[in-house]
Amino acid sequence: MSARILVVDDVPANVKLLEARLSAEYFDVMTASNGTEALAISRRAECDIILLDVMMPDMDGFEVCRRLKTDPATHHIPVVMVTALDSPADRNRGLEAGADDFLTKPVSDVVLIARVRSLTRLKMMTDELRMRAITSLEIGMQTPERSAVADTGKGGRILLVDDRESSYERLATILAAEHTIDVEPNPTEALFHAAEGNYDLLIVSLDLNNFDGLRLCSQARSLERTRHVPILAIADPENSTRLLRGLEIGVNDYLLRPIDKTELLARARTQIRRRRYTDHLRDNVQNSIEMAITDALTGLHNRRYMESHLATLAEQASIRGKPLALMILDIDYFKSINDNYGHDAGDDVLREFAVRVRKSIRGIDLACRYGGEEFVIVMPETDLHVAGMVAERLRRSIAGEPFAIHKGTKRIEVTISIGLTTLERKGEAVADVLKRADTALYRAKHDGRNRVVSQAA
Ligand code: GH3
Ligand code: MG
Ligand code: MG
Repeated sequence: MSARILVVDDVPANVKLLEARLSAEYFDVMTASNGTEALAISRRAECDIILLDVMMPDMDGFEVCRRLKTDPATHHIPVVMVTALDSPADRNRGLEAGADDFLTKPVSDVVLIARVRSLTRLKMMTDELRMRAITSLEIGMQTPERSAVADTGKGGRILLVDDRESSYERLATILAAEHTIDVEPNPTEALFHAAEGNYDLLIVSLDLNNFDGLRLCSQARSLERTRHVPILAIADPENSTRLLRGLEIGVNDYLLRPIDKTELLARARTQIRRRRYTDHLRDNVQNSIEMAITDALTGLHNRRYMESHLATLAEQASIRGKPLALMILDIDYFKSINDNYGHDAGDDVLREFAVRVRKSIRGIDLACRYGGEEFVIVMPETDLHVAGMVAERLRRSIAGEPFAIHKGTKRIEVTISIGLTTLERKGEAVADVLKRADTALYRAKHDGRNRVVSQAA
């Protein structure tokens, strides 16, 4: 993973210094000597992380950061302010501008590399999600960039893990001004609590009595339910080497005691905004995956999904020596339903048909819309005899109850024909199975429709 780091500084010697250190760790380094140049490079999506000097002529680092973070094209790029200023007021100005972190000049090598590595991991994950979410954009779904830029980061759900009463009372009071906060003073309960609570942020003290806060952080990273919840670590200054270790195992950010109120709030907001943004991206990806494998009219799987999944099911059946049944269902004289009652009535029939199919099959059966009014059902661990009974039940559930059309004002008789077969031998091509079912269907049609024909190989 070779991240591209943009170093922005008006003093050439500073640029050279950072460039040399980062290159030594195999990062790709780009440079800019002023804000305008930095904004242009970032908009062209050429960098993964930005190290930004604060004091620059024309446009200072705070302004550059503010512009990056309010532009939907660049707001997701992590920004680290590199500054000689280290008063809480300066840090807070940067955090208000949306900076993800600070490095104080002179920059320590270890901290620099740890920070850049941890932000790189985060950026790679976000990029992957953004890339996949582009599909949702193509099919007309909202991408979350705009709402992310507008998100204040307030109103989050935070779990604070800290066993020192004086400490957690103060922190909880500060955070409660903007968020809902739960305190867990017992570190052995904390992981469970975190997994159950659907939190936007975990704040973990690394100075717990008789308990390693880092262990908790690493457990939270490996547990499915907490894997994506950001972690903000809190430590005494003498524990700062452990913080570096924390960043390596996936802690997202940290604060040193004594904790400045404004900085705590700002860092919590940054993490919560980021969490909401990636959650949004993840939902979009999930939705677009579902859309890509689902038939929009009936909600059944589509042909593309069936064809790829059928191969897997057939392989599993072969390996385990279990039967696998497959049927093709085709609505009889469907064209005349369209012709006599209109295309919308035809659509109503297809939708209701899918509802009845779903009621007649098991959860592990795979039902898909194969073409216009043709459907395929695949039934794992089902032999020809049992599948024949299921098919017959299905046929009756269609023919036995008229279909409502024209908003329920009219009912019409619908029948289906079904061709049925099973996977015959290990490694048989699924195309051959489908072909055999199709031949059986053809016979069902030929023999008078509204019937099931089974075809052993
Ligand atoms: P058979 O009993 O031989 O299957 O006759 P059929 O009329 O059902 O078969 P045919 O293949 O001739 O006609 C299928 C019709 O299904 C033609 C097509 O316009 C219609 N159709 C395909 N997709 C849709 C759809 O999404 N909605 C509607 N309303 N009709 C569709
Ligand atoms: Mg038909
Ligand atoms: Mg047809």
